Amino acid sequence: MLYRNLVAVYEQLEGTRQHSDVRQLLTELFRSAPTNLLPSILYLSQGLLRPEFEGVELGVGGALARKAVAQSAGVDDHQVHREVSVSGDLGITAERLRSGQRRLEPLEPLEIEEVYAGLMAIAAARGSGAQEERLRRLTGLLARAGPVEARYLIRFVLGSLRIGIREMTLIDALAHAFGDGSKAARARIERAFNLCSDLGWIAEELSRHGLDALDAVTIQVGRPIRPMLAERARSLSEALHRMHGTAALEFKYDGLRVQAHVARDGSVRLFSRRLERIEAQFPDLVDALPAAVRHRPAVLEGECVPIDPDTDEIRPFQEISRRRGRIYDLDRLRSEVPVCFFLFDLLLDGTEPTLDRPFPERRERLEAAVTPGPSVRLARQLRVDSAEPARDFFDLALAEGAEGIMVKSLAPESTYRAGARGFWWIKYKKEYAEGLSDSLDGVVVGAFHGRGRRAGRFGAFLLACYNPERDAFESFCKVGTGFDDAALAEMPRRLEPWASDARPAKVDTGLEPDRWFRPGLVLEVRGAELTLSPVHRADFGAIRPGSGFALRFPRFTGRIREEKAPTDATSSGELRRMYRQQVRQSPAASGPA
Ligand code: ATP
Repeated sequence: MLYRNLVAVYEQLEGTRQHSDVRQLLTELFRSAPTNLLPSILYLSQGLLRPEFEGVELGVGGALARKAVAQSAGVDDHQVHREVSVSGDLGITAERLRSGQRRLEPLEPLEIEEVYAGLMAIAAARGSGAQEERLRRLTGLLARAGPVEARYLIRFVLGSLRIGIREMTLIDALAHAFGDGSKAARARIERAFNLCSDLGWIAEELSRHGLDALDAVTIQVGRPIRPMLAERARSLSEALHRMHGTAALEFKYDGLRVQAHVARDGSVRLFSRRLERIEAQFPDLVDALPAAVRHRPAVLEGECVPIDPDTDEIRPFQEISRRRGRIYDLDRLRSEVPVCFFLFDLLLDGTEPTLDRPFPERRERLEAAVTPGPSVRLARQLRVDSAEPARDFFDLALAEGAEGIMVKSLAPESTYRAGARGFWWIKYKKEYAEGLSDSLDGVVVGAFHGRGRRAGRFGAFLLACYNPERDAFESFCKVGTGFDDAALAEMPRRLEPWASDARPAKVDTGLEPDRWFRPGLVLEVRGAELTLSPVHRADFGAIRPGSGFALRFPRFTGRIREEKAPTDATSSGELRRMYRQQVRQSPAASGPA
């Protein structure tokens, strides 16, 4: 299949807003593609080369891409530079330069297979000659690309494909291409995806063996599964009531969620909440886990928390973020910021998947599988059947440095629900007990120029929640409070990779910020209450026609939630539930903004 055919679909997608039209285009693409090409088509269309958890990086920066464009078009770097400063998009510049070129012989069209192999070779380039190798290969691909192919090739390389297809849209299209398109078909694909996190593999499997084959998918060492998530309750008695009176309570540690895969031979892979490989940041856990985990292979989940090794006290979460993204000095940080991994679930016990077992059995197996040590321990747990010991345990959790407790179901149906947020786990945090509203995680989709003291830089940011049903980012507040000078000064650099010339297709808001951003950066905010507003679009019309949810008096908490992908931000459904809880507590709080 020719690359030209794939980019023709991208071009159509770029001009399409309607979800059903996007799905239709993708369904046709998947149906017409040869089975062996499906994985590469799925990865390329998500801006990836391999499933995200494998962490395969292209390693091509803007400068190298510009050089490749110049060389393949036979112009000098300055001309490319000049053109980009006008178009603002190297992809468009590459396209324009290609269309202006005269050729003596017709191009031999690029096959998708060649493009994919070429890009993989670029990613694999290592050592001293790596940059030249990357340049040579990229120039080679561009030299054979037609104008539109060049546009998308460059955008892919720079990580800004701009066709914005989300996983749920791809799943929907796969359900139409290889099933009857029903909700049930989608749910079966989603289940498999939650367990293997690899849509390329799923597409090929579907095309070869059909939907039934996916039902056999289960957890495997080395492939991260989507984390199970918690709902919230306003009071401990409400949480216990939902659990029919009995529950397991655990400390809610405030750190980084880590999924640890320990292979039979003792090798370890660690995945973050967004399923990125993070062994490099935690060499101490990589060393400690094989000794601590007796039943191998195993997949375990826990929270990694900074700890004072002398007193065993839990340290503030911020300290652990010093390890994020670090490649150098880790040995020093290892002793400066010691961590402890508090395990709370076991998903694979030896060769036996335990996901479908009730939580009490998983906990029992976890206790049997692990020998605790200084840096690997079990999450503190207490089973209760009344509110009083629950309150004591909550107080104890706060006194010991946890941010609250998790209330977990012990019912026979308390299986591990990968990728789902539900009332099988309920979080109850310090803020709720103090009558404060919970924090929300909003995706930055726009920014406003500052005035007065903040003139010349951004003064406020437009935040959106995620609506998985519409696959859209819906605005719910404009936040300018809570940023100190350093945080404000840092924002342009943080947001740069997500800059967009126009409102991104998936963003829904009634406001016009000065700058648009594609959904990428997630900020934690707190506010006074949720209200209804005509300019915000969070769950638009759910309570009142023409209004969405809005957060009043939002304030940035200072925490950038790097461990969250934009689709992990607070969802519009969560906002709706929070609003309802709030109305139940105080009917007066439901007025307009
Ligand atoms: P929050 O912003 O409240 O941390 P979240 O959106 O990251 O929430 P939730 O599923 O709502 O995720 O809350 C549970 C989170 O709490 C988990 O993702 C995990 O990182 C953390 N956690 C800490 N201790 C536990 C525990 N004992 N059991 C489960 N999760 C725990």
